[in-house]
Amino acid sequence: MNWFRFLVVVSLSALAGAQAPASKEVEAAYPDAHALYLDLHENPELSGHETQTAAKLASRLRTLGYEVTEHVGGTGIVAILKNGAGPTVMLRTELDALPVEEKTSLSYASKVRAKDDSGRDVPVMHACGHDLHMASIVGTAAIMARSKNTWHGTLMLVGQPAEETISGAKAMLDDGFLKRLPKPDVAVALHVGNILPAGTVGIVPGVYNTNADSLRITIYGKGGHGAAPQTTVDPIVIAARTILTLQTIVSREVKPGELAIVTVGYIHAGTKNNIIPDQAELGLTVRTNKPEVRKQVLAAIARITKQEAEVAGARPQPLIDHYESTDLVYNDPALAERMKGALEAALGEDNVVIEEPITASEDFSYFVEQGIPGFYFSLGGADPEKLSQAKAAGTTLPSNHSPLFAPDADLALRTGITAEVAVLRGLLK
Ligand SMILES: [Zn+2]
Ligand SMILES: [Zn+2]
Repeated sequence: MNWFRFLVVVSLSALAGAQAPASKEVEAAYPDAHALYLDLHENPELSGHETQTAAKLASRLRTLGYEVTEHVGGTGIVAILKNGAGPTVMLRTELDALPVEEKTSLSYASKVRAKDDSGRDVPVMHACGHDLHMASIVGTAAIMARSKNTWHGTLMLVGQPAEETISGAKAMLDDGFLKRLPKPDVAVALHVGNILPAGTVGIVPGVYNTNADSLRITIYGKGGHGAAPQTTVDPIVIAARTILTLQTIVSREVKPGELAIVTVGYIHAGTKNNIIPDQAELGLTVRTNKPEVRKQVLAAIARITKQEAEVAGARPQPLIDHYESTDLVYNDPALAERMKGALEAALGEDNVVIEEPITASEDFSYFVEQGIPGFYFSLGGADPEKLSQAKAAGTTLPSNHSPLFAPDADLALRTGITAEVAVLRGLLK
């Protein structure tokens, strides 16, 4: 998850310091879950390549008595535990890691390198905490399997590949997820981050995050000698003007107060200082939280891109490739309210925080779009002491995707398991 927090409101009482939720059943499941966490952290795999990761999860869940289906949408897995009549509740974890070189100096830091989809050799790190989500789900799975008297219905644990490329949920659905397997009545997921202290969880009723659209724009010019610009149409100059005009969409076209972000994350053009290249490529991410604003922003990008090329006499027209998109995650407000109660009972009222929406995105929304009500919540990951020091110094701890991202695993993993079990028991009644 692209985890830039937006207007997070945290109650001071929650930051005052949370204790590990100590319960016998969590302590019994913890050593295995923690061992899996260390193993997964040391052996991360890139999006769509999570073969060993999926196999480790599948084998553990089978041992716990779950019926496991592998290779759903690539490396995805679904583990089912039936326990009489009742609802079907899905709990999702992601499987993938990121092309990031770990710099945490932890004893279990990743030293893994792998080939990415374009064949480049890249470092790999669980820099988004998906290893913690997997360890948590396995701990939760053990507790639920050992306490069938506390719930009834069907528990469906989903290991989803390729969340970081916003493609894994769709791949699972395209592979017959809803046809081959029981359709969930509710879908649950959590995400760890460094904004909240470990020991706490955060809930956002309603709109949780943003729509995300990824665009690749190719501007075509006419190449030539850098000393003879009159013989060329310079795509770098057009790209530069386009980038600046794109900035006026949010500042001049979108109604003040509406959420919209247009970021040009890269510009690729040229090879040498005295050559004018024949094309330039821009990579954009667009975030919004209303369908009409999304439509407006995407239309404005297309209009501006075409017109800036037109002004320069560039031919052919620029190509706009809308290569990735996902809708926002919506938390059913009534469901969020019910789950708030379940989480407060398990973690203590002070350790459940109401948050504002964030401008990250997530393909969990693909499951919610299928008409499955969703509950997606935050898991505090920050070492409480380091977090208070950072706050006092006016700084922040390394965020998700940072080479230094290192959640307080002991506390966050225990809290993750406790929270998931509480939510599942709350739903499987
Ligand atoms: Zn991420
Ligand atoms: Zn993530």
